[in-house]
Amino acid sequence: MTLGEGMTPLIKLERLGRELHLKNLYVKDESKNPTWSFKDRLCSSLMSKALEFAFTVFTISSSGNHGASAAAYAAKAGMDCVVFTYASVPQTMKTLIQVFGAKLVATETYPDRWKIMNECIEHLGWCLVGDYAAPLMVGINPYGIDGYKTIAFELCEQLNWASPQLVVQPTAYANGLTGIWKGFTEFLELDFIESMPQLIAAERFGPLKNALEKQLQFPEPVPEKDSVAFSIAADVSAYQGLKAIKDSGGLAETVTDHEILIMQKKLGRDGIYAETASATSLAVIKKLVDQGKLDHDDIIIAIVTSSGLKDPNTTRKVLPEVPVIKPDLQALSSVLRDVYEFQL
Ligand SMILES: *Cc1c(COP(=O)(O)O)cnc(C)c1O
Repeated sequence: MTLGEGMTPLIKLERLGRELHLKNLYVKDESKNPTWSFKDRLCSSLMSKALEFAFTVFTISSSGNHGASAAAYAAKAGMDCVVFTYASVPQTMKTLIQVFGAKLVATETYPDRWKIMNECIEHLGWCLVGDYAAPLMVGINPYGIDGYKTIAFELCEQLNWASPQLVVQPTAYANGLTGIWKGFTEFLELDFIESMPQLIAAERFGPLKNALEKQLQFPEPVPEKDSVAFSIAADVSAYQGLKAIKDSGGLAETVTDHEILIMQKKLGRDGIYAETASATSLAVIKKLVDQGKLDHDDIIIAIVTSSGLKDPNTTRKVLPEVPVIKPDLQALSSVLRDVYEFQL
């Protein structure tokens, strides 16, 4: 089942690359997917398989992108979909989920949505499209992970069958990270590529970073709060993501809301409007450059997982008010100078 997901563009970041002294900095622009996020790869794969198992209702607990994608693919399949979310999710996300015909319900508290979702799976036999909320965070169904392998496949093809040195992935429960790692692993086994990239998890609160630092076998919960990067604002992550990072010799790094918003605006100057969560990959790259940890010649891929249009109100806060002027050159000249630092 497809809505035309995948084969998203790989775009060289010329301006930001120069600023960070990185010669081969690329964005894999996943905002070009049908519901404007990389979750479409997961949903296409997982939900196609679920249809073979004759499920009739799909369900998911989501902060937006995953729910919107599940709703669209359920619509395509002609199936029902019930999405659980929480009240503060951006309006655009709610609109997307509902316009695709899903039945969207919010719970008052954040953990409650998992509780009610689990009851529906257990008692009503609905098909879970999202992450399992077991006592341990285990991520999604492996058929969904298979969908994410295509990111690695496409990167190899787009780089003319070379493997990049680094792939930086905005990470919450690490399904994306795990799928990308599996994809590269399969292509190495087939001798399509000769080397593997290092994987970097770009996190907001850092359950994977914490687990690596403390050498934990399983990620443990870390403190969290509200964040502009709501799509990745997770306090836990999955074991298989931790394993993928370790196997690749990679690392996990966190950034603040402030660093994310600055990077979102900077990326706009390269013609890319990334969701706040998605700009995290480049904010982490900047942090690692500042720490002298990156090789300037390496091929570095930042995955941009979704579009900034999902939550434009947050971006507005770091942009100037639009000046209103009389139609004369003097008035224009002064606002261009004062507001935009542009001299006539
Ligand atoms: C879901 C999501 C992520 C995180 O994906 P995981 O597989 O949970 O790590 C990153 N960015 C965006 C925009 C997302 O919607």
